[in-house]
Amino acid sequence: MPQSDPSPGAGSGVGEPLIRFDRVVKRFGDNTVLDHLDFTVAAGERVTLIGPSGSGKTTILRLLMTLEQVTDGVIWIGGEPLSHMRKGGRLVRAGERHQRQVRKQIGMVFQQFNLFPNMTVRQNITEGPVHSLGVPKAEANRRAEELLEMVDLSDKIDAHPTQLSGGQQQRVAIARALAMSPKILLLDEVTSALDPELVTGVLDVLRTIAETTDITMLCVTHEMQFARDVSHRVLMFDGGRIVEEGPPEKIFGDPTEDRTKAFLHAVL
Ligand code: ADP
Repeated sequence: MPQSDPSPGAGSGVGEPLIRFDRVVKRFGDNTVLDHLDFTVAAGERVTLIGPSGSGKTTILRLLMTLEQVTDGVIWIGGEPLSHMRKGGRLVRAGERHQRQVRKQIGMVFQQFNLFPNMTVRQNITEGPVHSLGVPKAEANRRAEELLEMVDLSDKIDAHPTQLSGGQQQRVAIARALAMSPKILLLDEVTSALDPELVTGVLDVLRTIAETTDITMLCVTHEMQFARDVSHRVLMFDGGRIVEEGPPEKIFGDPTEDRTKAFLHAVL
């Protein structure tokens, strides 16, 4: 698969390769979901994955979160193998500890917000930094307040998730992911479970993050206008392979491949 550079004019923060899939194969039983997949994402780049249901998009994000393990091939994060570790000049399968260490650079927001129901919003956001990263509580609290301001939920800091709308819960989930200071933010259909009137608020928060930070984003979404607005590059998947990639204006405006045309025709 030829690799294209990040699109011209992709914005200032785009730099060195940060994520690299190197001939990654993922099988579930007889089902080959990813078939020798190669791609890279540069630091600061925002990439959207599109394609029909079952084409392997979520599996890519789950592999990055180490919620799944590769069948073959290697995933690299900033020059460090994630799925493997170096041993005597060779790469061997990495254990949970190594993966957890490398994965600290990655945050993920899921379709279902997955907040801790028995904790307040503040506790949801400070739990990870305090317990996993050893950030002092006062500092984690300050950061939680800043992040809640960014997602426009300062007044909900002491609320419990059940007291919030789905859109508000998702904005807390975004703040919680960012509280871990990840270099990479993975977004998996983050608006799909929301009532339509709550989608805009969540997308506005993500637009703000895209505009005001250099965080690398890998995004699976059906929100094509959002993908068009914030992505540097769009990857079109089918059958576990990239069938076409390019800047959003090209993929959405003038796609080359029939499969991309058919997919966009069906969703737009
Ligand atoms: P997409 O996100 O593009 O809809 P997925 O990555 O969710 O696609 O799924 C790709 C394929 O992998 C599907 O055929 C799905 O059934 C299969 N799959 C995903 N997760 C599992 C799993 N845990 N066990 C078995 N099959 C799975």
